[in-house]
Amino acid sequence: MTEGRNVTVIPVNDHVWLLDDNREATCYVVAGSVRAAVIDTSLGLADICKTARSLTSLPLMCINTHGHEDHIGGNWAFEKAYMNLEDLPLAKEWIADPGVRDWLEKTGASYPPFEHVEDRQTFDLGGVLLEAFHLPGHTAGEIVLLDRRDRILFSGDGILQHLWLQLEESLPVKTQIASMERLLPLRDTFDTILHGHCQSPCGAELFDTLLAALKDLAAGNTAEDVDHEWLGNVSKAHPYQPEDRRIVYKPQAE
Ligand SMILES: [Zn+2]
Repeated sequence: MTEGRNVTVIPVNDHVWLLDDNREATCYVVAGSVRAAVIDTSLGLADICKTARSLTSLPLMCINTHGHEDHIGGNWAFEKAYMNLEDLPLAKEWIADPGVRDWLEKTGASYPPFEHVEDRQTFDLGGVLLEAFHLPGHTAGEIVLLDRRDRILFSGDGILQHLWLQLEESLPVKTQIASMERLLPLRDTFDTILHGHCQSPCGAELFDTLLAALKDLAAGNTAEDVDHEWLGNVSKAHPYQPEDRRIVYKPQAE
């Protein structure tokens, strides 16, 4: 854990908080009347659990939207963590990384067991129900969580302005489209999208513009596409509007 790492807490309403960890990843705390959920835990450099405890005295449960390290990193502070186990290989690979193992040895911390999240599984926080929906695309085990009471969709890295489908573990564009189309009957149940890398809440129009852009990409309208550099690699990106949004994808698969 890095002392003094900057976690910015932004209230979304009186029982939902956005935790922006150094602009690298975003987690959420959702409090019901009997328990609170911590959705994603960032890289593990900041103690997200401690920040959550400063917001609510309710028992905490940890739910991961997927198995990438910038979401499961802080799971070490919990006794159990929920995740769709299709992402277990990703989580295991990261936990086995020599740097992570070193850190765990030095600090005495350990990662908790992961418990599978079924499609349509619900988490009753007391007055607030989180409904999980499987959304394979960015990773095979990506899930989104719907909070109908607050009309919020917590979307991890599954629905966001800059969607990454270029990773080795990512699924084809058509799979992402099918995943999002399966959610269309729920589209009028949320007004706000809180994803894994935002510094403020997004409007639900993000869902519509992203899905339209994915269909445009799948239709082969790639004349305006650009090279996109990421972590020393270059992939293609399909820009879309409004603002500077893009879908990064595997060119060979399109
Ligand atoms: Zn991710």
